[in-house]
Amino acid sequence: MPGKIVDIDIASAGRNAVVLNWAYWLDPYDLADNVSNYSVHVSYSEHPEVGYSQPISVDLSDKEVKFEGLKHLSQLGFLYYWKVELYRGQELLETKLIWLKPKPDGIANVFREKYEIAMKYVLRKTARLYMQRITEGACPECVDIRTGDPIAEECESCLGSRKKGGYWDPVEIWINPDPEVFTDDNSLVSSDRTMRNFLLPFYPSPREKDIVYFEEEGVLYMINNLVPNVRSGGYIYIIASVIALPRDHVAYKLLEP
Ligand SMILES: [Zn+2]
Repeated sequence: MPGKIVDIDIASAGRNAVVLNWAYWLDPYDLADNVSNYSVHVSYSEHPEVGYSQPISVDLSDKEVKFEGLKHLSQLGFLYYWKVELYRGQELLETKLIWLKPKPDGIANVFREKYEIAMKYVLRKTARLYMQRITEGACPECVDIRTGDPIAEECESCLGSRKKGGYWDPVEIWINPDPEVFTDDNSLVSSDRTMRNFLLPFYPSPREKDIVYFEEEGVLYMINNLVPNVRSGGYIYIIASVIALPRDHVAYKLLEP
């Protein structure tokens, strides 16, 4: 029987580093099998539905790998999604996905599940989340590479994200555009529809300057600020303050076929 990874965990190791560690099992009756036949390939992605970085190969016996110098970890600290693949020789045996999340808390998980069920099956409103392509760095067309200062407005290349490549393809998310519903918190509601609050899911994790397209209104909103709603030490949802983009904003090209 081929060996397998029985347990895998990820932990923050400071603001810009994470440590992945694993435990493995080898068949004790398979005398020909040996831990040196195995390797672990680790890669990461900033978005669960797009490509991963070039994998880094590690010996299975190392049991852990540390990634340092990670840029752009958000204030919530769970930007990257990790893929761990177990190989025996050239043969891929299994793939595991993992991301950095707060320590599991049973009560917080119950709150989050209840809220997500209400959003998905009772309110039933969806939006498209366009996440910036962060890992490739600044847009060379509209940002001064040396100083990091913007040098042009309304950049067609990055659609205003100021990131090389602009935005990823959208992911569908649930949205609560009327935050007093299901929260009983009227302070989240503003009469100004150009600056307002949306409640967004905890995963995939939205970030500042990401764009939300709320199809029901046909309007693009840019996320200006994010505040996680925390209960029992766990994140339940994200309160995003958003700004409606004017109709002539270059980001509307995202909606063109
Ligand atoms: Zn640009």
